[in-house]
Amino acid sequence: MKRAIREKVKLLEQTYRDTAECIFCGATPTTDEHIFSRWTHKYMLPAKPGKAKSYVAVKHIDRVVGANFKLPGPIRDWQIRCVCGPCNNGWMSQLDTAVEPLMMPLILGQQTRLFEKQCEQIAAWAVMKSMVVHNKWVHHTRRKFLKKAKRPPKDWAVWIANYNRRDWEGEWLSWPVAVRTDAEKSPRRKAAYNAHVTIQIIKDLYIHVTNLPYEGFAAKFRFRRSDGAGLNVVRIWPYTGTSIVWPQKALQDEDAMMASEAVFRFLMRNDDAARRIAGA
Ligand SMILES: [Zn+2]
Repeated sequence: MKRAIREKVKLLEQTYRDTAECIFCGATPTTDEHIFSRWTHKYMLPAKPGKAKSYVAVKHIDRVVGANFKLPGPIRDWQIRCVCGPCNNGWMSQLDTAVEPLMMPLILGQQTRLFEKQCEQIAAWAVMKSMVVHNKWVHHTRRKFLKKAKRPPKDWAVWIANYNRRDWEGEWLSWPVAVRTDAEKSPRRKAAYNAHVTIQIIKDLYIHVTNLPYEGFAAKFRFRRSDGAGLNVVRIWPYTGTSIVWPQKALQDEDAMMASEAVFRFLMRNDDAARRIAGA
């Protein structure tokens, strides 16, 4: 098999997997979890008529092997069977219910202000979705931490932006990353993914989640366009210490696409740069 095809197959095997045991507590059997919560469905792009399929783009960090995965139906119906009933109907459902009123103004581009607690809850929700999609790439200790603490582990970061959609149809993007950790100075290229970036977009709300083994990365990383201009993407986790007034100046389609690639581009330019800015 050609290398590119082999890698595509590997990506497929490792991406959004159903599991026999709950990814958060290990219990059986598992039930389906909606990636896009039901209350968000009416704010998503209209489902395409006929047999049209939804696609989820997955790209590599150090190799140019992109893969568009077909979903069996509209992306709003996308579900992964990987959590037990008590988790799904318990803490996950409670978190989902708690964030709905906080996220609604963000989704609709209305005025609101987010303080520490609200930022933490929205971030926990976004990380929960990212962990469900890429459960295979997330260490079990991180998943258990989220369930117990109801906040993201410290090596995760979450940013949000106000988005003005015109033509871009991005609603979910995944960027798997294979990076060296401090304990692994070599080999240069790792075989397995140990980190990832995901983007979820619900109407006017752009959510950017990173899971990178670089301590302090989030605090120093700045979203920029490829021409160097800054992008208005604000961090909600780890909390910056300053409340966030909404709506912020909106990203246009091109800005949102650039933002979704910003971490990827940064890492691709220089794997060591991430270590440097993290002070490692
Ligand atoms: Zn469970």
